[in-house]
Amino acid sequence: MLTLENVTAGYHRLQILHEISLEVNAGEIVSIVGANGAGKTTTLNTIAGLVKPSSGTITFAGQAAAGRRPSDLVREGLVLVPEGRALFGSLTVEENLQMGGWTQDRAATVASLAEVFELFPILYDRRTQVAETFSGGQQQMLAIGRALMARPKLLMLDEPSTGLSPKLTWAVLDAVKRIRDTGVAVLLVEQNASQALAMADRAYVLESGSVVLEGRGPALAQDDRVRSAYLGM
Ligand code: ATP
Repeated sequence: MLTLENVTAGYHRLQILHEISLEVNAGEIVSIVGANGAGKTTTLNTIAGLVKPSSGTITFAGQAAAGRRPSDLVREGLVLVPEGRALFGSLTVEENLQMGGWTQDRAATVASLAEVFELFPILYDRRTQVAETFSGGQQQMLAIGRALMARPKLLMLDEPSTGLSPKLTWAVLDAVKRIRDTGVAVLLVEQNASQALAMADRAYVLESGSVVLEGRGPALAQDDRVRSAYLGM
């Protein structure tokens, strides 16, 4: 579904990612864990077309993706839920969701809306409420729901549990698993390394812009280096 080969990227002359290689297959959750500033957000933004790689290749759904416009990538099913959620605060739940469906025709939008309401019934109950009055957990559900309205093949999530209680974190990450189970590939960046590794089919550890470890999620959670650096053990 998605392959990065030796991708180098950064901001102006500041190189942040150093020859990153990773892949995400259909129907799997792949997590990226790493310390603050390791380059996790930069990786997602580079895949989404928001940061231009200076070298390397990105292939999405069989086509070269590096350097393409973010909006074109969304049309093809590569959708990012950004850090901080970027909701339209003064719009209602339903209006936010409709905005997310801008790539789709009316019939697909109606179908997606029903699917999102089934995944997150609270969004249906509160569909006329404006987004800015929501709690953090509800806002995260709305941000994910809005991304689903674009019918992603690959859903990228940047730190979805930030600011959420353990209970709401569990609810959001459980929804992510259910999204994976519908066949959508998921690339997840999480501060909460133990949960991100436990739920990942595969995972990558990023340090100073380089991939230093990769493997099956639960197996990586047992790795001594990962346990001491990221799990506080
Ligand atoms: P965090 O968990 O803190 O979000 P991260 O692993 O997601 O960390 P990035 O946000 O990708 O890391 O940041 C990687 C490096 O790039 C950091 O040193 C950061 O200061 C720098 N950086 C991020 N955005 C920009 C920008 N727009 N311009 C210049 N430098 C940036």
